[in-house]
Amino acid sequence: MLQSMVSAKKTAIFGSGPAGLMAATRLVRAGAGVTVFERRPSFGRKLLIAGSSGLNISHEASVPEFIAHYEGFSPPIWSRFFSIFSPKDWIAFVESLGFETFVGTSSRYFVREMKASNLLRAWIEMLKKAGVQFVPNTEFNSETRLSDFDSVGFFLGGGSWEDREPVWPAVFRERFGIQVHPFSPSNVGYEVAWNPKFLQEAEGKPLKNIVFTTKSGSKAGELVVTGYGLEGTPIYFHGTKGVAFLDLKPALTQSSILEKLKSVRENLSPLRRIKKVLGLNETALALLFHHTEAHDRENLGKMVSLIKRFPLEILRPRPLMESISSKGGVDLGEVRVDPGCELMLKKHPGFFCGGEMLDWDAPTGGFLIQASVTQGAVAARGMLGWMENG
Ligand SMILES: Cc1cc2nc3c(=O)[nH]c(=O)nc-3n(C[C@H](O)[C@H](O)[C@H](O)COP(=O)(O)OP(=O)(O)OC[C@H]3O[C@@H](n4cnc5c(N)ncnc54)[C@H](O)[C@@H]3O)c2cc1C
Repeated sequence: MLQSMVSAKKTAIFGSGPAGLMAATRLVRAGAGVTVFERRPSFGRKLLIAGSSGLNISHEASVPEFIAHYEGFSPPIWSRFFSIFSPKDWIAFVESLGFETFVGTSSRYFVREMKASNLLRAWIEMLKKAGVQFVPNTEFNSETRLSDFDSVGFFLGGGSWEDREPVWPAVFRERFGIQVHPFSPSNVGYEVAWNPKFLQEAEGKPLKNIVFTTKSGSKAGELVVTGYGLEGTPIYFHGTKGVAFLDLKPALTQSSILEKLKSVRENLSPLRRIKKVLGLNETALALLFHHTEAHDRENLGKMVSLIKRFPLEILRPRPLMESISSKGGVDLGEVRVDPGCELMLKKHPGFFCGGEMLDWDAPTGGFLIQASVTQGAVAARGMLGWMENG
């Protein structure tokens, strides 16, 4: 029924990331005419970047656990969004395009072939066959004509990993009178002043099975040593300027570590004992060697306390250009959240937005892409409802 009502309607989608492509999918499947405009010469660039080191598309958490990871909208609103397009719906959609998915040891959903290029190509091909027009090199700006369309969806993304500052926040402020918060980095690496000798041994290598603690909280996982500092999920969750502590052996208590080290019969230095019985990886051993004083390295008790609580001065986050996502974007008070009109701009009926351009945030691990595609589907539902009734 909806199909016949919207078949004469024309919609514009600005932005060809996962949110825009999902909105286009839902609109064209309902029968609407869809044109996707993208400022770049090619489509879905950030999805390609996200997929360059393993395409993590979602997480196997239950919906309530899922929602607990999000900031921005209230839990009941996230819950409604996921009832419209759930993680299961997204996985089924990816599989319907011919891509096998699996859940990794971290409970994250991956595409089996671990990269985004084929998925993106298949998705765009499917949309083109369904009748969606794709227009590259076309930036939404203060002059863009919108009156030709019955409804418009903006899915313009956040501030991370961009070669230049996005123009759309200024256009939204000036043309639409919309409050847009400045972007700041999120899910980002932090800088640490490493001893150059440590870097020679450890750059590019992981600190495995550690617990990372700052005043913001604790997170277990793996960190990677980089020339400038650290990357990895624990620091994306709880990175903040100031002192952080690493537990290099979370499975054992301080007293059981001491007992194990004392049980070594040979007359070895504390570091050699640690190497012999504790199973720390080479990066952790290099950290203990290069970032301690010589007299501490001779003191077994001191070394044990460092293994459990190794202090690291975290200097500053890496810039927005290097961050996985961003905080900031369209103030959530600017969009409607009532059923049927979700994600419509209150000041501009018929215009919708979603994805990372809105001021919500989540940790990496599938939560970002999932929320983006979900909001693409939610906004598309709103656009269809608007064209039918509005
Ligand atoms: C290095 C990296 C790794 C990541 N890893 C993961 C991960 O493992 N798991 C996860 O869930 N997420 C990950 N992400 C995040 C994920 O890629 C984003 O959350 C997702 O792409 C956001 O989708 P979106 O459609 O809202 O925005 P985007 O994908 O950013 O798409 C927005 C599109 O709009 C276009 N655009 C911008 N301005 C205009 C304009 N004025 N006119 C026309 N077009 C415009 C942009 O060029 C872009 O193509 C990663 C991101 C990065 C950078």
